Amino acid sequence: MIQLINVNKKFANGHVALNNVSLNIENGEFVFLVGTSGAGKSTIIKLLMKELELDSGKIIVDDKDITKIKRSHIPHLRRSMGVVFQDFRLLQDKTVYENVAFAMDVVEAASKDIRRQVPMMLGMVGLSKKSKQYPHQLSGGEQQRVSIARAMVNSPSILVADEPTGNLDPEMSVEIMKLFSEINQRGTTVIMATHDLHIVDKMKKRVVEINEGNIIRDERRGGYFSENQNR
Ligand code: ADP
Repeated sequence: MIQLINVNKKFANGHVALNNVSLNIENGEFVFLVGTSGAGKSTIIKLLMKELELDSGKIIVDDKDITKIKRSHIPHLRRSMGVVFQDFRLLQDKTVYENVAFAMDVVEAASKDIRRQVPMMLGMVGLSKKSKQYPHQLSGGEQQRVSIARAMVNSPSILVADEPTGNLDPEMSVEIMKLFSEINQRGTTVIMATHDLHIVDKMKKRVVEINEGNIIRDERRGGYFSENQNR
């Protein structure tokens, strides 16, 4: 379970990114974070990953207050959370296989586990035949699938995605969302920040809407816009 309790975050320039935000996410949920650009979605994701520190409040992940954990425990936290970005962030000089294996290397996984797990993940995302290719030889959708394999290879309990379909055409986006659904159905909590109203409307998952650092809507099976909002 993930809990944000009265989280405040102001940037050095005085800009308030999150204003007393509280949010509970149960294990196994699928949650969309929506809202206009600058609403505070990425700030929530960065706080979860401990890429940013909050000013006040608490963030509890699996019973631990991650705002209090020691620096030496950050790698452990990041292992329990896979992350996918809009711009894929693959290593260009490594093959597909090596990109995924690298995520296991950095957590010092045993070679035999890497040799077993990486092909399994590439199979899950449908890229077994492309394991020796380099990122620039792949389509955007394929690159995003590599990054999903990389995010999931250490079996995290949470998958966090920041605009994962932002650089993809609609067909590729549908494929990516199928993968996220499968991952969620196998029990992983999925938190996805997005602007993609078609995806949100189609998936009918929980929608948390943020505006100027405040949660203004939390719907169990919501659409991109609230029902009483004019389109
Ligand atoms: P979103 O992901 O919803 O587009 P963000 O969480 O990235 O929004 O940003 C929330 C607000 O905080 C925005 O107004 C943004 O300009 C501001 N912001 C984000 N990062 C910084 C930073 N490093 N310094 C100052 N302001 C920032």
